[in-house]
Amino acid sequence: MATRYRCDACGNLTRFDVVATKRTRAFHHFSVGGELTVEDEEILDHVVEQVTCRWCGASSASIQELEVDELSGGTGVPEEKS
Ligand SMILES: [Zn+2]
Repeated sequence: MATRYRCDACGNLTRFDVVATKRTRAFHHFSVGGELTVEDEEILDHVVEQVTCRWCGASSASIQELEVDELSGGTGVPEEKS
């Protein structure tokens, strides 16, 4: 389950700054020497706070969220809009 974004102001589909809060539970596995390996990370909560277009700087109302399914059409590559 992934979300893509589209900037209505300039048509950008590929480059965004995303500010998000992620809450996770993970297994922190330490070696005897104290070296940490993080395993089995589970995302408990993921909130996207702000998305900003890297091309024109638009945010909030100009940024549309897209379900990946409606874009992919089987290829995973969205069509360019003119
Ligand atoms: Zn833009």
